Amino acid sequence: MKFLTKLILILLIVGSINFIFPIDPRYHTYEEMCEELNTIVTSYSNITRMETIGYSTGFNLPILAVKISDNPNLHEDEPRVLFTGIHHACELIGVEICLALLWELVTKYELDSFVNYVVNNTETWVVPMVNPDGHHIVMSGIDTLWRKNCRDNNNNGVWDPEDGVDLNRNYDFLWHLGGSSNPLDREYRGPYPFSENETRAIRNLAYRERFIANICFHSHRDWSYGEAVYYPWRWGNSWCPDHNHIRPIAESIAVNIPSELGSGYTYSPIYGRATEGGLTRNWLYYAIGCFSYTIEVSRGYFPAGNIVDTLCKRNLQGVFYLYRRLFSNKITGHVYDSITLQPLQAEVRILEAYAPPETTWYRVSDSVYGRFYRLLSPGNYTLQVIKPGYNTKTIYNVPVTLGNTTQLEILLSPNPGIDDEGVILNKKRLKIPTIIKKSKRIEANLGEFKKGKIDVFSSTGQYIATLSNFNSSTENFSLVLEPNKSGIYFLRLQENNQVQVKKIIFIK
Ligand SMILES: [Zn+2]
Repeated sequence: MKFLTKLILILLIVGSINFIFPIDPRYHTYEEMCEELNTIVTSYSNITRMETIGYSTGFNLPILAVKISDNPNLHEDEPRVLFTGIHHACELIGVEICLALLWELVTKYELDSFVNYVVNNTETWVVPMVNPDGHHIVMSGIDTLWRKNCRDNNNNGVWDPEDGVDLNRNYDFLWHLGGSSNPLDREYRGPYPFSENETRAIRNLAYRERFIANICFHSHRDWSYGEAVYYPWRWGNSWCPDHNHIRPIAESIAVNIPSELGSGYTYSPIYGRATEGGLTRNWLYYAIGCFSYTIEVSRGYFPAGNIVDTLCKRNLQGVFYLYRRLFSNKITGHVYDSITLQPLQAEVRILEAYAPPETTWYRVSDSVYGRFYRLLSPGNYTLQVIKPGYNTKTIYNVPVTLGNTTQLEILLSPNPGIDDEGVILNKKRLKIPTIIKKSKRIEANLGEFKKGKIDVFSSTGQYIATLSNFNSSTENFSLVLEPNKSGIYFLRLQENNQVQVKKIIFIK
């Protein structure tokens, strides 16, 4: 009975809100968006793929992401970008811009040379509706000003105004400083960081795809906060370590988007504060080095339906600036093991844009291709590549020039110095087969070596063991090693001043 009274009360309140803010049918419902995404991925299956990246916290609705790229089913060695809408339920324009972007890319592919280039050379991920639950509350007219998701804060089994977490306060970067700890607050940050399925879905996607750039579309109810491009960050008296690189991009995105104020006016770049805790933008930048921007589209929550198309078109000009920038001044390359030539996930520091991990987490190459990207303003940079078990490599005066990409292929040598395989310092040779198949152990004749020691390393240069300090006059002194798994191993034999390294492939 109590619930019923409550529900009636809610409907009465909601009724009046709904009267004030009727929703134009130009805006997509969740169901309409799903249908449209389906149409896109079935009509353009050669360059798109849909993925359910999670399920909403309250109503268990699929959170859909569309990837656009040539070979959409492969994880290619290409820069990846992310666009999102509807972290905040009532900021309806976000889903419309994301859909407009998808249509722009798929319909102009093979017709427009730049779109073609983008699709063939990047992997774009679009999550038009991060918060389908909250969006449903808005679109069904229950509460057209609803902002949060639909976590059942009071555990009463139904949605009511006491529920929900502000998803854009729930990310794990200075989370405790953001929003409010009061579940009734519009900016409730949740019980703990990443408590919500929606934010975890974005987090997991970001860790997997390691986006180099992102735009989250929002709209602000306060007229004076609208038409702005926010970037990370000011923290106390300091700018973020990439300030000289991240800010000019915000400026350029902003000037590419015409304002509703009329000719000559554009959006404005505005720095955000790091201490606005729990934000998507700040977390993406902190955790994976993604140049992440928030665009507050338009002026107010509900731009009239008849200007939605114009707003989408204008904001896509900002998006396309970002794409152009990805192909412009930057340093990129791969990190490999100098012996095995396997790609390495290593820390790649630009000393001129570096902060310790308390401020920004380690910037690393990806583990699949060893690829790293750093968007930089023109200048000369010092690059340092660091990985435990390897000698740190420092490269000075790496130039970045306007409009050009500086490409580096970096070989890291495992320490202690086993990158001299094949250099036979005397005529003696280890008589160990290169491939040892289907065996429990490596057993080999040491050939002409009678004394010394053998250090064993894994394929990534990790020291495993010192086999023996042998000293034998026996003719066929044998080496016995029982690795617990198949793989590439390096045996480094040292006899007096002479070193020899043998690479073997051991198949258990
Ligand atoms: Zn927002």
